[in-house]
Amino acid sequence: MKASQGRALRKRCECIAVACFAAIGALVPAGAMAKDANVCTAGTTLRLSTPEASQGSLLLIQVRSAKPIGEVQGDWGGRSVPFWQEGAGETQRNGLLGVDLEKAPGEYELKVTGQTASGEKISCSAMVPVKKGLFATEKLHVEKQFVEPSPEQIKRADEERKKLRDIFDSATPERLWDGNFRIPLEGVTTGTNFGKRRILNGNPGSPHSGVDLPGTTGTLVHAAQRGRVVLAEELFFAGNAVVVDHGLGIYTFYGHLSEIDAKVGDAVETGAVLGKVGATGRVTGPHLHWGLTVERARVNPLLLVQLIGGPSPQTGRRKSRKRRAN
Ligand SMILES: [Zn+2]
Repeated sequence: MKASQGRALRKRCECIAVACFAAIGALVPAGAMAKDANVCTAGTTLRLSTPEASQGSLLLIQVRSAKPIGEVQGDWGGRSVPFWQEGAGETQRNGLLGVDLEKAPGEYELKVTGQTASGEKISCSAMVPVKKGLFATEKLHVEKQFVEPSPEQIKRADEERKKLRDIFDSATPERLWDGNFRIPLEGVTTGTNFGKRRILNGNPGSPHSGVDLPGTTGTLVHAAQRGRVVLAEELFFAGNAVVVDHGLGIYTFYGHLSEIDAKVGDAVETGAVLGKVGATGRVTGPHLHWGLTVERARVNPLLLVQLIGGPSPQTGRRKSRKRRAN
């Protein structure tokens, strides 16, 4: 970043308010929001962490059965919903429903099917309404090459976009994470700018698909959970970047690093150092861009820490002194 740009941008900005989600212990019955309360086969219940979703949100799903569950699959508007078993909970499966930050508002049917260990069919359905996300629009000034890239740079960015899409399109069938997800910077409890629509040097840009976490250059960046490194390279827009596959179609993304300390194929534990905070790529200053993809849906990663994590991060409205791009 250019120092003069940073100073020019050192204005107060309003950060988005993110809906708070109920903790795991306070899931609501899916039937409460469906026209027909009896949405499951006998002996089975479906509960969601919130009765309605919004663009960029993440819902925790619980399927419970009177009998031990053999297998469960989920489908939400043509996208599969990852389910897993927590510990010895044979009569329960947890799932995550990711709502892409650009998903069209409306009602989408969640269908859960499966069978008990003894082979009896299980099925549930519920309509999940999606509201428009409350995302602010911000105007930013970045280096000219990032808004008016050359044909070579456009080609490079397109190839990188395809590479990332190919990664996010594939889902490792087993769960690689184990336990709570964490925020990747020590001592940081919140992030900003998720979903913001941006005007870059006067031109409309793509929405901001992650959260920006404050950090000075050189601050260690830690893996949010156990997984496998599937990308570790410099990207045109995201700068030095790392992607960790946590299994079941769940990926975390770490961008703008000053240094990458991981390589593709590395099996990482929660908290493993992936690199250091920096200001590479399209930025207005050093910070960590942290993203989360759940079955191809770009969602707010702070919600994953709230739903499968330790102390809840702050996701409410607050003031920030600086604007950060990308
Ligand atoms: Zn960012």
